[in-house]
Amino acid sequence: MNLSFSYSLRLIIIIQRLLITGLVALGCLTLSAQAATVSVSNYPLFLLSQAVTQGAPSAEQILDPSEVGHHGSISPGDIKTIQDSTFVVWFGASLEHNLATSLDKAPNAISLYAFDAFNRHPLRDVKGQPIKGTLDPHIWLDPENAKAITRALAVIHSHANPQYKSLYQANTKKFAQRMDEAVAAQSKLGGKARKAQPYWAYHDSYQYLERATQLQFAGSLSVDEDLAPKASQLRWLNEHRPSKTMCIVTQSEPAKGLLAKLQPVKSTLQSEDMSASKDFVSGWQMMAQQIRQCIS
Ligand SMILES: [Zn+2]
Repeated sequence: MNLSFSYSLRLIIIIQRLLITGLVALGCLTLSAQAATVSVSNYPLFLLSQAVTQGAPSAEQILDPSEVGHHGSISPGDIKTIQDSTFVVWFGASLEHNLATSLDKAPNAISLYAFDAFNRHPLRDVKGQPIKGTLDPHIWLDPENAKAITRALAVIHSHANPQYKSLYQANTKKFAQRMDEAVAAQSKLGGKARKAQPYWAYHDSYQYLERATQLQFAGSLSVDEDLAPKASQLRWLNEHRPSKTMCIVTQSEPAKGLLAKLQPVKSTLQSEDMSASKDFVSGWQMMAQQIRQCIS
């Protein structure tokens, strides 16, 4: 009797445990099934969103890595993702031309460029002169902008999935701390002199990195990554070299013949969309370090 009582008691406890873990598992399933979807347009925005949602379901990404706006196309599947999302966050038409027809009038789309919350700079011509009335779209490379974007994403994700609000807030705080540490490490490298290091870019994409990493733009080869530089521009660059050996930052492997025309020159490959990285802060840091190494 005693034995059987103790046996059934243990059995009840085991069943209860099973039920509890089962219910918890079921609860998690229901939660994630109910989690409202937030989609983000491209890879740098996805990395920033991941920093915010760590520990909760992550956002859907519309464009593939390396399809940052200038290129890439939108598939029927992407259109379905846009329609099924509670919110779609994108930079805006001046970067993501290929998303503009689908997103410009979508009621659930949020364009970050529409907010007056970011540091903005004008586009520059190939000689580094600002072009009046324009805005350089590569805003995420500025650490203050990256932090502001995560704050905006935290608000958006919290509206979609309020059950994770405190997690999003804690993650956003942590991101700001890590970003600040990365910037502090960079300015330490610059030393006391803080002399800006001159560089060339194949196309001018790295302006928003310059302040935090003490880089100084000395001209670009072309207005677009896909357009070959003009002979007159190569001549101008050679005639206006701020230092003997220069560094060119490119997004694809530069032709050997091209480098030969700008000797002595070094080059470093840096995707503006950070598609080489799995984490925004470490990707930003790697980019800054490799550019500085190329210059020194
Ligand atoms: Zn670009």
